[in-house]
Amino acid sequence: MIHGPIHGFIEVVCGSMFSGKTEELLRRIKRAQIAKQKVQVFKPLIDNRYSADHVQSHDANKVASVPVQFARDILERVDDNTRVVGIDEAQFFDDGIVEVAQKLAYRGVRVIAAGLDMDFRGMPFGPMPKLLAVAEEVTKLSAVCMVCGGPATRTQRTAGPMGTDATQVVVGAKDLYEARCRFCHEPNPVETA
Ligand code: ADP
Ligand code: MG
Ligand code: ZN
Repeated sequence: MIHGPIHGFIEVVCGSMFSGKTEELLRRIKRAQIAKQKVQVFKPLIDNRYSADHVQSHDANKVASVPVQFARDILERVDDNTRVVGIDEAQFFDDGIVEVAQKLAYRGVRVIAAGLDMDFRGMPFGPMPKLLAVAEEVTKLSAVCMVCGGPATRTQRTAGPMGTDATQVVVGAKDLYEARCRFCHEPNPVETA
């Protein structure tokens, strides 16, 4: 039974590390499941923190997910009767994720994408700026700054590759990163050890 027009749209949940993006994604997914809507969750293969086949928050909340290498793999795996598609760590996908989200939305699917809006230098991360631009709804979450206790919008790399040519993607959690506000964030961290 269909009530009213088809509602496909894109929601993006962004913010720094530890801002609760995955928690918020899981909250929305769980509510869709309570409404008996078929949900599928995807995440990039690169993100092997915690578990290969679950999306898990730093608070150990989790739901089953399918790891995929390329954005286009999502389109191939979404079933015809799926109403809600969740995507975590969207910043790690190629730019194709934008077209994938758009295609799903035009098909009537509710797309919920969570990802880092900025990398550890405070620069836009991967396809996120484009995804934010085409989204119907954007939620920007903040964490708690580990230096001053204020609202944190940025992610500080505290260990691992630093320096001016340090690689953008180094997967880690509290061992490598902490949340910081604009004023406490150091975009060009130098190795101290
Ligand atoms: P994200 O997906 O945005 O990285 P998660 O949803 O995985 O975040 O985790 C959010 C949880 O992280 C919070 O509920 C809290 O328990 C924990 N946490 C750890 N450090 C911080 C911090 N600096 N600010 C806020 N929450 C933090
Ligand atoms: Mg997360
Ligand atoms: Zn601060």
